[in-house]
Amino acid sequence: MKETKRLYFDDPYQVEFQAKIVQKEQKNSRTVVVLDQTCFYPESGGQPPDKGTLENKEVIHVYEQEGKIYHVLEDDIAAGRVKGKLDWETRLDHIQQHAGQHILSQSFYKICGGETLSFRLGRTSSTIDLGLNQIPDDRMDRVERLANQIVFQDRKIRTYFMDKDEVQNIPLRKPPPQKGRIRVVEIEGFDYSPCGGTHPRRTGEIGLIKVVNRERVKKNLRVEFLCGGRAREDYAQKNSTLNQLTQLFSVKAPQLISSVEKLFLDLKSQKKRSEKLQKKLVQYEADKIVREAPEKIIQRVFGERGPQELRNLALNIIKKDEFVVLFGLKTPERAHVVLACSENLSLDMRELIPVISPLIQGKGGGRPSLVELAGEEREGLKTALDEAYSFIKKKFPPDSLNQK
Ligand SMILES: [Zn+2]
Repeated sequence: MKETKRLYFDDPYQVEFQAKIVQKEQKNSRTVVVLDQTCFYPESGGQPPDKGTLENKEVIHVYEQEGKIYHVLEDDIAAGRVKGKLDWETRLDHIQQHAGQHILSQSFYKICGGETLSFRLGRTSSTIDLGLNQIPDDRMDRVERLANQIVFQDRKIRTYFMDKDEVQNIPLRKPPPQKGRIRVVEIEGFDYSPCGGTHPRRTGEIGLIKVVNRERVKKNLRVEFLCGGRAREDYAQKNSTLNQLTQLFSVKAPQLISSVEKLFLDLKSQKKRSEKLQKKLVQYEADKIVREAPEKIIQRVFGERGPQELRNLALNIIKKDEFVVLFGLKTPERAHVVLACSENLSLDMRELIPVISPLIQGKGGGRPSLVELAGEEREGLKTALDEAYSFIKKKFPPDSLNQK
């Protein structure tokens, strides 16, 4: 069967067309049709397909195989002649990103000598992989300036077919395909590429070209960029973020970075100060608990604090001689247990794990002088600590731990 006639080759601005269905089949409960001619650009070379409708039925995918263009539809469609309609916004967006890439690739080549190895037109941004290790900021700036200069000059973009012999005289940026006639896309006096894509008539329609990111991918450099409408949206969004930040900090944009840096420094010193105070506070609290405890086994249940704070409190108490700490923490979700003992006591708190675990449905571990457990059975916390108390009590002769 004949190849599909690509109407977008002659006129990328055509959005409505009539065509005849020349092939129709059901695939994975979807309808796939081939037309004698189409405006739809198929997915190819890292570029997503056009969107639109055939007989008011949504075309959900377009692909190409051996010169034929396949339109995938969610719903069935009657055989015969059809009316096709392209989503112009998607086409224009793709035209801007795609033609922007031609200009950017040539700009990278002219300024850095970097060849474009691959191009991907994504749904939100696009990337070019360059055969370069790195590009310094000042050179990247020159590349972007040159690319936008070509846009501002509103140069003509022409497309034409040539034979292999004719194309020898054209300074193509990349080698042409091996088979068939070659479609050349010329950005007047600037770039010549073999390309089957959709392009505007003039560079002005591409709008702003903006590189937004770059990263090393293996040995190459991946450059992320936005053109036209996407660049405007990105600018609007970044401008809004910047305005919110300048209001928050009550400074003008150029002072923003130094304001944030100052904030970080202040925060760092405040954190240090707060840690110091916290340490002192825990020492005071440990002293108070020891002072008020009736015996050397200290059992207590806390609420509203963190497990880390509880651990610090326990460690401060066992620094003193011959203390055993049995702390519980009841949060709205869990029960935490901290068991600790002074190192001059011949105890191994890990022996308490099998005693406590089943009562709070918990898990945990530690070293001989400090064990921590956490579990979901909050109601078992009090019993667990009582059991631990009895266990420790039995380890020592009566009253040997009572004296303070
Ligand atoms: Zn192209």
